[in-house]
Amino acid sequence: MADVTLTHIYKVYPNGTKAVKDFNMQIQDKEFIVFVGPSGCGKSTTLRMIAGLEDISAGELKIGDLIVNDMEPKDRDIAMVFQNYALYPHMTVYENIAFGLRLRKLPKDEIHRKVVEAANILGITEYLNKKPKEMSGGQRQRVALGRAIVREPKVMLLDEPLSNLDAKLRTQMRAEIGKLHSKLQTTFIYVTHDQVEAMTMGTRIVVMKDGLVQQIDTPKNLYNYPGNKFVAGFIGTPQMNFFEGTLLKKGDDVQIKFEYTDAEITVPYSLLYKAKPSYLDGNSVVYIGLRPEDISLASDDVKNNKAVVKVVVSHKEDLGSETLVYGDINPNGDGYVESSTRIIIKDNSGRELKAGDVVEAALNINRVHLFDKKTEESVLPRVPEYNYLDCEISKGKIKFLGAEIRLPASVNTEDLKGELLLPTDAVTLNGELQAEVVSCEEINGVYLLSLTLGGKRLYAVLSEPVDAKTVCVGIDFKKITVTADGENKILPLPEVNAFPCKFIKKKICERVEVNGKAKKKKSVQFGLTVAGAFFGVADETAQKIFTALGIKNAYAANLRLECGIDKIAVAESGIAAEAVQTLDYGTEKYLKCKVGDSFIYVKTEAEYNGNICLLPDFEHVGIVEIEREIKII
Ligand code: ADP
Repeated sequence: MADVTLTHIYKVYPNGTKAVKDFNMQIQDKEFIVFVGPSGCGKSTTLRMIAGLEDISAGELKIGDLIVNDMEPKDRDIAMVFQNYALYPHMTVYENIAFGLRLRKLPKDEIHRKVVEAANILGITEYLNKKPKEMSGGQRQRVALGRAIVREPKVMLLDEPLSNLDAKLRTQMRAEIGKLHSKLQTTFIYVTHDQVEAMTMGTRIVVMKDGLVQQIDTPKNLYNYPGNKFVAGFIGTPQMNFFEGTLLKKGDDVQIKFEYTDAEITVPYSLLYKAKPSYLDGNSVVYIGLRPEDISLASDDVKNNKAVVKVVVSHKEDLGSETLVYGDINPNGDGYVESSTRIIIKDNSGRELKAGDVVEAALNINRVHLFDKKTEESVLPRVPEYNYLDCEISKGKIKFLGAEIRLPASVNTEDLKGELLLPTDAVTLNGELQAEVVSCEEINGVYLLSLTLGGKRLYAVLSEPVDAKTVCVGIDFKKITVTADGENKILPLPEVNAFPCKFIKKKICERVEVNGKAKKKKSVQFGLTVAGAFFGVADETAQKIFTALGIKNAYAANLRLECGIDKIAVAESGIAAEAVQTLDYGTEKYLKCKVGDSFIYVKTEAEYNGNICLLPDFEHVGIVEIEREIKII
């Protein structure tokens, strides 16, 4: 049994195709993970890298505590099941299942016990003496599963195992693989392009597109909280409706106007607390997403709901228990063609409808999704990154949400009225502003604290839960931005320093004494030159650089050394720098240094001036190849 950890995994095929880009995930022991996405999104490549059938271009893959990047597939303790079951046609089912065990020279009686047990689990005991050609597709796939089970792998990898089966058998096998997973208590990683398969099988799902992970979450969360338009559209059938529209804040309400039609609805502002205020200006166009099942034609729903739009019905599909009604919210629209006004409604009101009817549809506003028109990211992220607040700075104090705090010396600025961009992770619980706790929600390993301060909403993201009714909040001032009149007045301290660097090989010639005689000893030291300074690197690091860049290109590539501002220190030797300023953030101090033409920031207790040396903590640095933006370490 084992965790599988993928850290900054990339795959670049020799022809230059970037099939997988910066894949990061910790798969826990016994999870059932599904990789899903359209054809060509990189799911199989990722699975094949885990299996060891494909080299990893950059990044680290761990199974349990072992780094397995360079381990042979047979040593990884995994088993893989493919779409084409690849059974030996001349062997019986029994022999097919036993084959791998025989190769491993297991005792006969043990092989027999394992084969019989696997056949029992899979319900193919009566076929053990048959040849594959005498069996159906579903039965053959069961044999392939049997062959994998008997190896008792730490991790089971399944690459579209059901796509050769007909719809009915697929549904049945889906359930059986689910049952098998709970019986075997092993980590399963399953690849499919079918979102229904993903939703019904996975404990967590990884949605991929163009080699990039779009979202990793439970089926329920993907459905309820899609992080972008792609995920929203990919999960759920029929697909979520996407309209275009603008949002205008009017007091405690927000008016949503749909484009290309007169339709408009009003929703309470409280639903949109997490949205950046610039979306609510009545001009920025966003995508408005609503699932067909969140729109109702039932007369009671229409009567009791303020968010109602008129729909011209074009056609319908009767599915028995419910009817899919197709229409358009533009009176001149065509409900057949996918457009910004086409609407699909899952109706179970039983209403009789015909083409051309104009009906009222109630939108469930609590389930409205909004996406940025350009980036397609959610406008209402589940964990918001920022609080967007009005502020006033006067006499060294900042006022926001009716509260006031003294600014630390390093972020003092002239008096102004402007906007405060306060990251949710910069709201701390060790301050002096008393705020009421509305809720504390665990979301993917962090806690989102919803607070009210001065009657308005404030969000904080914490690593620990809070169960108090009130808290005293403060601000990590090194993370804030203040703008006034379109100009930045206070900027956050960068969290990471970046140095251009090169990978080099140094030939070392040492004089050593062997048996009392002085001898020359030649060796090679790999390292990085950073702003004129040389730092030797561990063999393991050099190996990763060679793997990512190739032996020839490694020395020519332009690299970037990334180092957190608390992972670099003033030292006796290292990178030559000039200390230019000490930045005082109250409880913490940072040194602003000049290295070449760039500024570098260093956490420090002491005061420095003039020429100093800086030493990055090489245990905690990142190395990026600039051209392809590949994170090597
Ligand atoms: P999926 O499993 O999601 O359908 P793949 O992982 O098979 O996608 O492929 C991801 C991308 O990598 C695609 O663009 C595909 O064309 C490309 N690709 C896959 N295998 C190779 C290969 N051996 N050489 C070059 N490109 C490849």
